[in-house]
Amino acid sequence: MNRFLPIAILFITSHLFVSAQDKFMSVTIDDMPFQHQSMFESEEQVELVKKIIDHFQKYDVPAVGFVYEGKLYNDKLIDSTKLSILKMWLSSGLELGNHTFSHLDINQVSFEEYKNDLLKGAIISSRLSKEHGIKYEYFRHPYLRSGETKARMLELREFLKDNNYKVAPVTIDNSEWIFAFAYNKAYEQNDSTTMKKLGTDYISYMIAKVKYYEEQSNKLFRKNIKQVLLIHANLLNADYLGYLLKAINEYDYKFITLDETISDKAYETENNYVGRYGPSWIHRWALTKGADESFFAGNPKIPNYIKDYTNIRYE
Ligand SMILES: [Zn+2]
Repeated sequence: MNRFLPIAILFITSHLFVSAQDKFMSVTIDDMPFQHQSMFESEEQVELVKKIIDHFQKYDVPAVGFVYEGKLYNDKLIDSTKLSILKMWLSSGLELGNHTFSHLDINQVSFEEYKNDLLKGAIISSRLSKEHGIKYEYFRHPYLRSGETKARMLELREFLKDNNYKVAPVTIDNSEWIFAFAYNKAYEQNDSTTMKKLGTDYISYMIAKVKYYEEQSNKLFRKNIKQVLLIHANLLNADYLGYLLKAINEYDYKFITLDETISDKAYETENNYVGRYGPSWIHRWALTKGADESFFAGNPKIPNYIKDYTNIRYE
């Protein structure tokens, strides 16, 4: 027997082992402190976000939460209970980022207004982050919209750079918010059967999205890049995030920080996307490279019964 064979076998098996684990993802959570505030008292919001944090801790996920700071106020006064949600988040070692003060659509307001709102959106979160010794450096566009004219897109890009913000991209874009909306409706109607169905379908839908964006990445880069998932701080995730993280984990993903993810060279790809909406960064890069319509085929859709249930016709 060739004396090098055992080493060769060892190399091959360890290489196979590494390949099976060679998938990475960062999880980001928008609209903090809580997405649907009119439905829950501030104290309930604390409990629900605590459940979300517990899920992250159980699966060792270094999530970044994007704060919509206007949500911290009741009329013009800061709600200290809502503020405690951000403190709890930071005390758990999780990072916060800027999601503006009023969640403005960049295509609907002047740049002056958008810029002021963006700066206002950092005041409390940046101070709290500093007090907790956690860095604060990311910006997440509301609705992922980054400008429908080239001038506006470049203006914002320049402004973020000048203010030392790193843009938080999203690759696994999805309509989790529609599931969350439906889930709230079922919750209000005390319909536990529908809640359970929505929760189960949510996991299948999200895994289908992960697979779809893996394929998109393979088509564009010939490899599965480190991915970024977007979800929101809501009741659906308080109840189902644990199942979602477990499913993603079982699909061979390891959760890593957003810093590690965007250090993937793919994130240096040219992105000249200009448009009204906010697609996945993989699609922005594909559009910049001139991909035709066939590239985007196969994007998983929201089940029809949810469209009927919510009356939201969006995909
Ligand atoms: Zn948002």
